[in-house]
Amino acid sequence: MEGGDALALQKQKKTGVWWDLNTCPVPAGVEAGRVVACIESALEKEMGHGCQVYIYAMGNLEYISSDLLEQIGSSGIDVLHAPRRGNDLYHCLREWSEFNPHDVANVMLISCDYTLADPCLFRLVEFTGFIAYPEDHRPLTLDRNDGQTVFVKEFVWETLLNDNMSRGEIVSKYDEPSYTCYICFDSYEACGEFVTHLKSDEHKRELRYMVPKDSEFGKPKHFCQACDYPAYDYHNFLIHTQSEEHNLKNLAEDCESRKRSPQVHLLNERNKMQSVARGK
Ligand SMILES: [Zn+2]
Ligand SMILES: [Zn+2]
Repeated sequence: MEGGDALALQKQKKTGVWWDLNTCPVPAGVEAGRVVACIESALEKEMGHGCQVYIYAMGNLEYISSDLLEQIGSSGIDVLHAPRRGNDLYHCLREWSEFNPHDVANVMLISCDYTLADPCLFRLVEFTGFIAYPEDHRPLTLDRNDGQTVFVKEFVWETLLNDNMSRGEIVSKYDEPSYTCYICFDSYEACGEFVTHLKSDEHKRELRYMVPKDSEFGKPKHFCQACDYPAYDYHNFLIHTQSEEHNLKNLAEDCESRKRSPQVHLLNERNKMQSVARGK
C-alpha cells in the first residue's frame, strides 16, 4: 500500500464506543463534559491521529439525573435508554457493522456487565476492539477465550479517565444532541422531553408489554408491587430498588401502615431490637 493510501485509510478509521452508565458511571469529582475528550485521547494513543470516535452512552437511564444526562448528551454523546443489556448492544453492533466495514471500523466497550462484555457478541459481528471496566471488576466472561482475541487491549475505567484528564477539555454545547428510548424506539433532541418520556404512562405500557412474563400467570417475572414497576430482568430490578423513587415510595407506604396499625409496628420494632441484642 502506498504511503498516501495508508494515511487515507488511517484518517477514515472509526471507533464506535458503547459506554454503560450503570456499571461505569462518571466517577465522583469528574465532570461529565470531560469524558468525551478523555476517551478520544485514550483511543488516539492506540490508533494514532485522525481516528473518528462515536460514543453512545447506554443502560437503564430511568433513574439517572436529568442534569447528568443533559451534560452527557450535550457533549456530543448519543444517549440510549437500553435496559435489555446484551440484546440491545447486539442490535447496536449489527447496525454499526451495516454502516461501517470492518477494515475501517472497530469498537470499544466500557462496562463490566457480563451480558455486554461477552466476546461471543463481538465475534458474531466480527469486530475487535478495546474494553474498559471499573477497578477490581474485570468481567470473568473475558476469560472465555476460544482462540480468537476480541478485545486487543483492556483499560481500567478510572485510570483511563485519570491518565487522559489533561486532554479532557469540557465539551458543553453540541448542536444535535440525541436521546433514544430502545423500549419504544422514540428519539428526542431535548433531554427534558426524553426524561419526561421515560416517566410517562406510554413508556411504562411498552415496558410492561415487553418484559419477560411468568409462563403460568402471565405476570412480569421481576416486578415491584409498591411502585407497580415491571423490570426487564433482575439487574434492572436491582437498579429500580436502589432508586430514590422506590425508596421514597416504600418510606411513604411504611409510614402509612404505621398509622393504620401502630401496635403491630411497635411489636415488630421490639422483635427487631431483641434479635439484634441476641446476635451480639
Ligand atoms: Zn420509552
Ligand atoms: Zn419500587
